[in-house]
Amino acid sequence: ATVLLIGGGGREHAIAWKLAQSPKVKHILLTPGNGVTVDDNMECVAVNVKDHEAVVSLCRDRSVALVVVGPEDPLADGLADSLRRAGVPCFGPSAAGARIEADKAYAKRLMEELRIPTAPFGVFTDADSAKEYIRGEPNRLVVKASGLAAGKGVVVAADAEEACRAVEDALLGGRFGEAGAKVVVEEKLQGEEVSVMAFTDGRHVAVMPPAQDHKRLLSGDRGPNTGGMGAVAPAPGALTAQQLSGLEQLVFQRLVDHWVTEGISYCGVLYAGLMVTATGPYVLEYNCRFGDPETEVLMPLLQSDLFDIVTACVEGRLCPIDVSWRTDAAAVDVVLVSAGYPGSYPKNLEITGLDAAAATGCRLFHAGTRRSEPAGSLLTSGGRVLNLVAVADSVAAARQMALQAAQLVQFEGKQYREDIAARALAR
Ligand code: ATP
Repeated sequence: ATVLLIGGGGREHAIAWKLAQSPKVKHILLTPGNGVTVDDNMECVAVNVKDHEAVVSLCRDRSVALVVVGPEDPLADGLADSLRRAGVPCFGPSAAGARIEADKAYAKRLMEELRIPTAPFGVFTDADSAKEYIRGEPNRLVVKASGLAAGKGVVVAADAEEACRAVEDALLGGRFGEAGAKVVVEEKLQGEEVSVMAFTDGRHVAVMPPAQDHKRLLSGDRGPNTGGMGAVAPAPGALTAQQLSGLEQLVFQRLVDHWVTEGISYCGVLYAGLMVTATGPYVLEYNCRFGDPETEVLMPLLQSDLFDIVTACVEGRLCPIDVSWRTDAAAVDVVLVSAGYPGSYPKNLEITGLDAAAATGCRLFHAGTRRSEPAGSLLTSGGRVLNLVAVADSVAAARQMALQAAQLVQFEGKQYREDIAARALAR
């Protein structure tokens, strides 16, 4: 079969790499893709994903049997609905399902209704009411733009004054545009963050091992937030084995059951960002797709055939399908980023040392890379450039391997964190 994968980050490369291992997958088209080499039957193609007709035509022209959508924007925009209407199978939820990520006010109200543990909150469009709430309730220090803001719409304030300023920026200053015309204000929770994802066919769920992302730029969780500087899996964080097994019902099945009653079609990945507090896990947010960089550490641990899993999801028969994971190994991802990231950064810098890095046994998942024309050398093209993913029999060994590879890849101004998985190692 030919699969079309929408997206161009490390997440999509990791998904493509895993799909390519299936004997049933002949060819993978990536759009827009990145500088990933084409020798694994992968090909980057150009199509405007906002133009759903164009995506459908591409699928017809290239006999695409299945579309897998990486990022949230096309899902929130209804691409999966358009594809399904045109008879093209798509792994990714409908726009109505994607609302769980694209509309935080909706997500919070739904969690409250379904008694899924989440921080106490209020939803506001009026700045004065929001400020009154912040000053009147304890610890209401987290201010979130309700709509999609590319991971930049959340302010975790140190005090009520800062939270009030964040409210003003969003509601009066228009800092996040339409996405911030409504805000969620919620209690600041203390604990350790863990990401847990599940495959779902819209009725059944198959929960993946827990993973941990590292969002801050610098070691010791200092510096600004980024798209993700690295990840480790499995990483139950502060979750006990009992809490972990309870998540399937508490956090995933409840939501999926609700969508069934509402007639909302949700086939794809459901992602829960959790805060594990002294009183148990709370859902900080749901995402409607694979996490990045969590996917880069989970795909190498997946033993089952990913194409079989996603096909089963699309066909509504996930239940009897085998979804098994390596239990004898851990994976660590160290992300190389451009100088200046997450602010502005230079592009088109030559990347060398890939063969030496690959010789360590690490997998290289491309993110912000591209091939130069006509020479074909590899250049930087984004903030997050390359994921170095190591799988070993311990977290410590995996980290050491990924760091060794990180030293071998060269481009001007390269930065990375040396303390990925520190929490998992300290445990
Ligand atoms: P992402 O980039 O993960 O999609 P997002 O912008 O959609 O992020 P959230 O995940 O809701 O937003 O919040 C971003 C980060 O802010 C979280 O990873 C967490 O570190 C912090 N955060 C969010 N809500 C809370 C809370 N109630 N208490 C403490 N920290 C929080």
